[in-house]
Amino acid sequence: MDKNSRRAVIAGNWKMNKTRPEAKALLAELIPLVKEAGCQVVACVPFTDLETALEAARGSNIAIGAQNCHWEKSGAFTGEISAEMLREMGVEYVIIGHSERRQYFGETDATVQKRVRAALDAGLTVILCVGELLEQREAGITREIVGMQTRVALGGVSREELSRIVLAYEPVWAIGTGRTATAQQAGEVNHYIRTVVEELYGAEAAAALTIQYGGSMNAKNAAELLDQPDVDGGLIGGASLKPQDFAAIVAAASR
Ligand code: PEP
Repeated sequence: MDKNSRRAVIAGNWKMNKTRPEAKALLAELIPLVKEAGCQVVACVPFTDLETALEAARGSNIAIGAQNCHWEKSGAFTGEISAEMLREMGVEYVIIGHSERRQYFGETDATVQKRVRAALDAGLTVILCVGELLEQREAGITREIVGMQTRVALGGVSREELSRIVLAYEPVWAIGTGRTATAQQAGEVNHYIRTVVEELYGAEAAAALTIQYGGSMNAKNAAELLDQPDVDGGLIGGASLKPQDFAAIVAAASR
């Protein structure tokens, strides 16, 4: 299976931005801009915006996602939201393992694995983030880090369930910094991730897996990054808050 037969996914990660009226306005502007998209479009919004976003996106081609979920179904986990709660609302996607969660909230490969399990069990599609720190790239251990993160996170995920996983390669040094990986760097690591998935699940499953790049992707650099044979879409932070820019990235990914 080549790139053209894989599902391209452009997902916006709004992070901790937008009140409900702002979310409504952003989606109202975005919907007509991406209505002809030739790829899957996703908006991953703050928990407080989910209901508003689901309502605003109803009948459009934009799927709504969350930015995290807990691994238990319910219980004494103050401040947390379960995958089942998300699914019950109509949420379809959830980002798991974002580097900001790993950096600031103690997320580990082990907790990422548990969250992935819970999200799949609840029927969600997971956008699973992996990526190396700058010092790890400089030490020449990008593959080891990204390979380990991928293997641990997918521990216990069946071949059938892999169709509800979107991998996102996000070099930490490129997130929110304006410093994008070169198309070649993104292409190389995405290709490496596919070889890891091939070892785990076989060639057919690996070839069908959508692998995004994320890290300062914008309207200007998207086409070159998305042109790489193993880059099947993008996870977009800053630019997802600007409808025209986000729509330009969607257009670049459309086939
Ligand atoms: C992200 O939050 O996943 C991201 C890639 O952010 P940015 O596009 O702003 O670098």
